[in-house]
Amino acid sequence: MAMTRHGDNNQRQQIIETCLGMNRLGINQGAAGNVSLRHDDGLLITPSGIPYDAMKPADIVFLDAEGQPHGEKNPSSEWRFHYDILRDRKDAGAVLHTHAPYCTTLACLGWEIPAFHYMVAVAGGDSIRCAPYATFGSQELSNNALAALEGRKACLLANHGMICIDRDLTAVLALAVEVETLARQYCQALQLGKPVILSATEMQRVLKKFKTYGKQPNRK
Ligand code: 13P
Ligand code: ZN
Repeated sequence: MAMTRHGDNNQRQQIIETCLGMNRLGINQGAAGNVSLRHDDGLLITPSGIPYDAMKPADIVFLDAEGQPHGEKNPSSEWRFHYDILRDRKDAGAVLHTHAPYCTTLACLGWEIPAFHYMVAVAGGDSIRCAPYATFGSQELSNNALAALEGRKACLLANHGMICIDRDLTAVLALAVEVETLARQYCQALQLGKPVILSATEMQRVLKKFKTYGKQPNRK
């Protein structure tokens, strides 16, 4: 049976809970967005167009190493970028795509998020790039997203939304909330004036500090 061969129920349930979490946290709406998790030599991914509160573990689709779907439902229309990212980015274990309101607002202007706040470094660099527009579900969109994610864990998608990648589902959901918060703060700052952008040198300093930030000594 697909469920025992292509991923245990627990992982499938965690994917559904991540999707419910992104809507509850206000970083997505309706059946938009999709989530995947590296599994064996392929990945588990949400089905296309099914509302998250109606999604069952058996609806999650397994994509094998060749990108072939195994399951009862059709995989997300965005399976190409999930597949390409997990193939090319060995640092990633999970991929999350949403139409988060503030990220999407900036993406509709084709704007990236510059280093207006030091926390932009949470995505791995001194900006969060915006991938050029391409039709949803297309190979071109996947290519554009991969390029925008180079050296980064997040990007915007022009006239569409955003993508975050991280080691697991918990980390990727937390990163998506951070990125949407940054997008909201940037939009708000733009309404009041001209945000001050941190220098490349300062962002290098922050990126270096982030390598050890939050790591507590293992004292007994
Ligand atoms: P799916 O329901 O096919 O995952 O599509 C949602 C979406 O956000 C397309 O970009
Ligand atoms: Zn989308």
